[in-house]
Amino acid sequence: MNENKIIIFDTTLRDGEQTPGVNLNIEEKLEIARQLEEMGVDVIEAGFPASSDGDFEAVKAVAQAMEKCSVAGLCRSVAADIDRAWEALKYARHPRIHIFLATSDIHMQHKLKMMPEEVFEAAVASVTMAKSYCDDIEFSCEDASRSNPAFIYKIIEAVIDAGATTINVPDTVGYAVPDEFASFIRGIKENVPNINKAILSVHCHNDLGMATANTIAAIQQGVRQIETTINGLGERAGNCSMEEVIMAITTRQAHMGVSTDIDTTQIYPTSRIVSEITGVPISITKAIVGDNAFAHESGIHQHGVLSNPMTYEIMTPQSVGKTESVMVLGKLSGRHAFSDRIRAMGFEMEREEINKAFKIFKDLCDKQKRVSDEEIAQIITDHCIYAQAKAI
Ligand SMILES: [Zn+2]
Repeated sequence: MNENKIIIFDTTLRDGEQTPGVNLNIEEKLEIARQLEEMGVDVIEAGFPASSDGDFEAVKAVAQAMEKCSVAGLCRSVAADIDRAWEALKYARHPRIHIFLATSDIHMQHKLKMMPEEVFEAAVASVTMAKSYCDDIEFSCEDASRSNPAFIYKIIEAVIDAGATTINVPDTVGYAVPDEFASFIRGIKENVPNINKAILSVHCHNDLGMATANTIAAIQQGVRQIETTINGLGERAGNCSMEEVIMAITTRQAHMGVSTDIDTTQIYPTSRIVSEITGVPISITKAIVGDNAFAHESGIHQHGVLSNPMTYEIMTPQSVGKTESVMVLGKLSGRHAFSDRIRAMGFEMEREEINKAFKIFKDLCDKQKRVSDEEIAQIITDHCIYAQAKAI
């Protein structure tokens, strides 16, 4: 495999579904899964089979439907969960069992009520058991970023020996900061002797708004799988947004030196489908997929983009599957953008008429922040008697 390829593990259907208020049925999960496969995701985490019968059936259905990508099911480090996960995953062309167990003191003590030695043994036993079902085993040290590094090194080495092929170190509570997370990853690479036998993965949460930054920092330390969701869905403040990290890798290709198999032109359509199905709206200022991500209002910016989009756009809307930049006309818009818009709307006007319409438009902008195309058309029909509507 290309050593600079980043494996995209999408957990929209599992962690994303844990977004408060989101509940997906089988058909909805299948529709999203098909779209994820279409866009080139490598691994789809379809759910947590032991958590409910509905989730079991959904994981099974996704496992049966996927042609190219691997399908993962989550399970705790207990035999019953692993059996149940395999029951659903055995239908997949490329099944992956994903086992997690917390490794931080606070989780071991207060949640698991287990001693570190017991956690160590349970981790090894469950990976060994899962390995008897399939080859592709991912092990996650839940709350890794708050765990004692020495304990993490020991447990990772042991689960790799037991057959884990991917080791995931999540920033479960979104606590890490990029340089610290980078040295945490470096520590694992330097202190786990058999680390090269597995793919190292991260799963970052966005509680401090640093999920994408932490994921990028991890990639730069040699992590080759990243776990993401569409639109950053997930528990609390959500997970690392797939669209952000993919476009960071693509736009800063020369700096990053890594690649993915994602068809970036599927990003925008996928984002909209997921928003529609989950009912979770996308903030207008959301990077990459927000309504304003390619909108320019300031007159200086609009003029620049019309002459050469690269003046204010580091990537094109087409590259993420959005048809074109939206020029929002408002009080900061200049004459250039205004005349461009009326031409695009199909009006042919002399300069004097344009100036007249522009003045009325500016007066209207003083009263309201934005002016719609309909209102611009109204200004022209009401005030510009020589304006010709082109047949379009
Ligand atoms: Zn998570």
